[in-house]
Amino acid sequence: MSFTELANSRLETIGFRWTAPRRAVLRAIEAAGAPFTVEELLESLPEVGRATVFRTVKLLHELDLLCRVPLEDGSIRYQLSEGGHHHHLICRRCGQFTEFTDLELDAGIQEQARAHGFTLEGHAVELYGICAACSAAGA
Ligand SMILES: [Zn+2]
Ligand SMILES: [Zn+2]
Ligand SMILES: [Zn+2]
Repeated sequence: MSFTELANSRLETIGFRWTAPRRAVLRAIEAAGAPFTVEELLESLPEVGRATVFRTVKLLHELDLLCRVPLEDGSIRYQLSEGGHHHHLICRRCGQFTEFTDLELDAGIQEQARAHGFTLEGHAVELYGICAACSAAGA
C-alpha cells in the first residue's frame, strides 16, 4: 500500500475531507526524500496557506502517519511512518532516521516508571550518531 493509500484509509475513518490544498501537502510530503521541517514544506508549497500546512502535518502526526523527531539543534523534523510504537537512530551527517522497535527496552522503561511510582503516559527514545552509510563514506 502506498503512503497516499494508507493516509486515505486512515483519514476516511475520521471523516477527513480531501481538499486540493490538503492533497498538495500530502503529495509534497510523499515527494520529500528526506526528513523535512515544516518550514521546508512551507517553502515547497507557496500556493498553500500556512495554517493548512501546519494543520495537515499535525493531523498526519496524530494519525501516526508522520514521525516527529527532535534534533539536537532544537529543530523538529518529520518523516513518513507506517505507524506503531518505535524509536529512531538519527544520523548527524545525512539527517536520515532509521526506525527500530525493542520490546525489552520498552519493558525496562515501564519497570523504571513502576519502581518510581510514576504513571507513565508515553516515552520517546532517540539515538543520535552517524549511520552505517555515512561511516563507510567517511572511512
Ligand atoms: Zn519513526
Ligand atoms: Zn548518515
Ligand atoms: Zn519504546
